[in-house]
Amino acid sequence: MAGRIPESFINDLLARIDIVDVIDERVPLKKAGKSYQARCPFHEERTPSFTVAPDKQFYYCFGCGASGTAIGFLMEYDRLDFVEAVHDLAARVGMTVPTETGAGPGARSGDTARLYHLLEQTQQYYSRELRDHPQSERAKNYLKARGLDGPTAAAFRLGYAPPGWDNLLKAVGANPEAVRDLEVAGMLVPKEGSGATVGQSRHYDRFRDRIMFPIHDHRGRVIGFGGRILEQGEPKYLNSPETPVFHKGRELYGLFHARKANRQLERLFVVEGYMDVIALHQHGVSNAVATLGTATTRDHLERLFRVTPEVVFCFDGDEAGHKAAWRALETSLPLLGEGHYVSFLFLPEGEDPDTLVRKVGVGAFEDAARFTPLSAFLFDTLAAQVNLATLDGRARLIDLAKPLLSLVPGGALKQMLALRLSRLSDLDLSTLAPMIGGVRVPARADARQGATAPPREGRSLVRHAITLLLHVPALALRVERAEQLVRSGQGGADLLSELIAFVQSNPNAGSGALIEHWRDRPEGRHLQKLLAQDLTTPVDGVEAEFLAAIDRLRALAHKTMRAELARKPLKDMTEEEKSLLRQLPLSEK
Ligand SMILES: [Zn+2]
Repeated sequence: MAGRIPESFINDLLARIDIVDVIDERVPLKKAGKSYQARCPFHEERTPSFTVAPDKQFYYCFGCGASGTAIGFLMEYDRLDFVEAVHDLAARVGMTVPTETGAGPGARSGDTARLYHLLEQTQQYYSRELRDHPQSERAKNYLKARGLDGPTAAAFRLGYAPPGWDNLLKAVGANPEAVRDLEVAGMLVPKEGSGATVGQSRHYDRFRDRIMFPIHDHRGRVIGFGGRILEQGEPKYLNSPETPVFHKGRELYGLFHARKANRQLERLFVVEGYMDVIALHQHGVSNAVATLGTATTRDHLERLFRVTPEVVFCFDGDEAGHKAAWRALETSLPLLGEGHYVSFLFLPEGEDPDTLVRKVGVGAFEDAARFTPLSAFLFDTLAAQVNLATLDGRARLIDLAKPLLSLVPGGALKQMLALRLSRLSDLDLSTLAPMIGGVRVPARADARQGATAPPREGRSLVRHAITLLLHVPALALRVERAEQLVRSGQGGADLLSELIAFVQSNPNAGSGALIEHWRDRPEGRHLQKLLAQDLTTPVDGVEAEFLAAIDRLRALAHKTMRAELARKPLKDMTEEEKSLLRQLPLSEK
């Protein structure tokens, strides 16, 4: 996502805006020393631990660990994705967001604005036809039979595409440009062959004689449609194809409505179809979404977890339902931890989500006791495939669980999954941990492994240098040949040298630019934590301290390089290596 907007633009943007203004508009801030404070908008608290530091252009919360740049704040608070947040901020300061590739036809912003406009007109046309078209009676009857009331149908802006090949074409495709845009938006299909002559249209309506469900993006703009057939026939549901504004693998039906109806979303249900979302909404469960005819993707989940901590997948309780649930589990594993939870709601036989909620009521439907936590589903499913009474069966359980648990990021949940596997398999955690990776073993057991860990000095040295650099990125401009630092063999030295190289090629980069550059990488969270710390070094001592750390790391690197060179015949050395050897007297230890 970040790749499509040039990085230099992000850096300029972050230099132009003031994070204090951006946040203060949403969460009123009070000055406290050189920073600003407020009660944290991301967790419940009585005394303010949410801090905005204008010098770092960065916010952080000591209570819940939330942190980030102005871009990150908008993503969290306004629940935007990266590109949307950049656009919003750019609009504030009158900057136009460029794209790196120049993008293909239909993707320029003027063009997408026209697509949104046409799709909105299309939606209004379908709504009118549901109300007025003589043949829409069947559509209304279907909706009534499903128990849908008028206000709900209106809230979701349902419509009707009448039978016939050119209704939409005539109603909305007023000129050749509109026709072409309707094709790009997926609403018209070009006729095959060259049969069409002048005066005849080369297009026909994609959706005919169907109930139309408009699909909205996070701002409530119509970006596509799903159409349900009224007579027997296939496909039962037809969706808009992929277009410049509609991406099935990312969008979720009902997310806009769920967010509109709930200030805070404690959890979101993922159900199978449009009608499930709408029927649940009508019965008071306003926090359900559906994917658009695809399985849940990682993009979907990332989007959901930006809005809610818990995702509950609803599936039928039969074998097909369990299979689909297992796929959802596999997609979820890499995103668990960090306050993200996944569970499953298996529907009793013969029930839909809406029949169930009608039967048991909203309270019971949302009662977490009905949900199967991911960990239970995982181990129950695996344990059913082996005989835990035998040693071989327990070994097989480990083989099955290992690749799955490896996907879970380190943290409390992973730790507990590993512990559960250890108990089920009867294999102690210290033997199991290395097979999974990222699992901590209680101190007594790993004392022997201590010898292989990098010396304490190196870790804290690199960490300190990175912390200073994050606060004062310009320090990087004082470092030469940063790539050598990697040879110090110290954990994190590669990250340090990469940070330095980044600032050297983006000399205007501030703290925020570093955070944004590393946003999607595992080290990103770690960098935010380091930037959240206040420097204990006085301002005028920062540079000296940074350069001292760099010197120390370089000395370690030189030691390694020299040891290698000492083993190399002089005739094989490059001039550079010879000069390095001269600079590094062998006597130094
Ligand atoms: Zn907080």
